[in-house]
Amino acid sequence: MTSGKRIVIAGGTVATDTAVLAADVVIEDGRIAELAEPGAGGEADELIDASGLVVMPGAIDMHAHFEDPGHTEREDFTTGTMAAAAGGITTVIEHPLTYPPVTTVDLYREKREMASRKVVVDFGLWGALTAPSIPAIAGQWAEGAMGFKAFMPISDPSYPHVTDAEFLEGMREVAAVGSLVLVHAESDSLLQAGIAAMRAQGRRDPLAHHESRPPFVEEEAVHRALYLAAHAGARIQIVHVSSPVSADLVRDEKAAGRPVTMEICPHHLLLDLDDLVRLGPYGVCAPALRDRVLVERLWDSVLDGTADCLVSDHSAYTRAEKDAGYDDIFRSPLGCQVIQETVPLVLDEAYHRRGLSLDAFVRFSSTNAARISGTYPRKGTLMPGADADIALYDLEREWQVDAASQQFSKNPWSPFDGRRARARVMRTLVRGETVYRDGEILAAPGSGRFLSCHGDYTISG
Ligand SMILES: [Zn+2]
Repeated sequence: MTSGKRIVIAGGTVATDTAVLAADVVIEDGRIAELAEPGAGGEADELIDASGLVVMPGAIDMHAHFEDPGHTEREDFTTGTMAAAAGGITTVIEHPLTYPPVTTVDLYREKREMASRKVVVDFGLWGALTAPSIPAIAGQWAEGAMGFKAFMPISDPSYPHVTDAEFLEGMREVAAVGSLVLVHAESDSLLQAGIAAMRAQGRRDPLAHHESRPPFVEEEAVHRALYLAAHAGARIQIVHVSSPVSADLVRDEKAAGRPVTMEICPHHLLLDLDDLVRLGPYGVCAPALRDRVLVERLWDSVLDGTADCLVSDHSAYTRAEKDAGYDDIFRSPLGCQVIQETVPLVLDEAYHRRGLSLDAFVRFSSTNAARISGTYPRKGTLMPGADADIALYDLEREWQVDAASQQFSKNPWSPFDGRRARARVMRTLVRGETVYRDGEILAAPGSGRFLSCHGDYTISG
């Protein structure tokens, strides 16, 4: 973006992380130059009419799985980031649960180089916190890893889960470089017993998935993870929180001044057990969908700011893989394919029905993630000097999710198919370049850039 191009986004309502105002957004060389009085944006090489639209920082999705390398029949860095761009997301931080898992410095570097040639939005890569990769934590951090992912339960057999002792040792290693621990918190012991109990009863129905991993399976593990993190002196983020009790634990830790954060996914905010029954395998994720009473309480953590980040936990599968769960729910792979719908659907619900202000939504979808990942104020804000990563929304135009005709994912499907919303992504810009507009991707693979925690984009090596 060294063209010197001057872009003015004029006539819109601008939502920042601290205010909502009528303003023109002036972009120079791919960065925010100023928020000008309406009509005072001046001459432009490209004028974008935002009349009637809301202009926000692009969302940062800290939790996506693109299955690349290893399962590119499910998704890859190009299709995954195209779907992200169409969903108003301008930065994706992808998880190390690929095939092979990213447990060495070499594998991290190879994945970074491979992904750099494929992405259409900016991206980061989490490192791995597994027993075999503890010696690689400092090296992966030096290569740009902004945090390290641990699994308390056995999830995918290819990605080693951690015992408490391994978890503690890994957290100390992460804390030593000043980085972040991300944890999938479910108790392995309770979970395996839950699955065995369902199998012993011959249960294979959708609700058996939930009953095998009820909320306390998550809550116990969150409690233990927070305790161990405090002991290790580590900064920790609880990923995809599904239970309001887990959120209460995080709220208490924050009140005690500990560096604890949490994520929430759209499916845990918008779907419940009735949806699990209706969707069968297409509603199977981990942690499981919850009872409506808990979903309502989970919203409290969004409205009071305890929930730091909206994430997709995008987990792509072929329809054949998901369909295997119709006969036996335990044969469904875990996860939902939601990256394209995440931001507009949660924005619709939060703004139109839950009373969340637009500036609070900006913090929830973008600014907090930038701060936690160490990329603020380059990302997550519309302050002068920030990258011009922007999404334009029409908050009045109603649309309906139809994955087959809308999604850029490799195997379009969505647990939200048929849902109506009044928040539509009209256009997405990454560093001032329009990457998505009116249903079309305009950016070429490789146009996105790698984002590290070290303040620059390119790490030599
Ligand atoms: Zn995940």
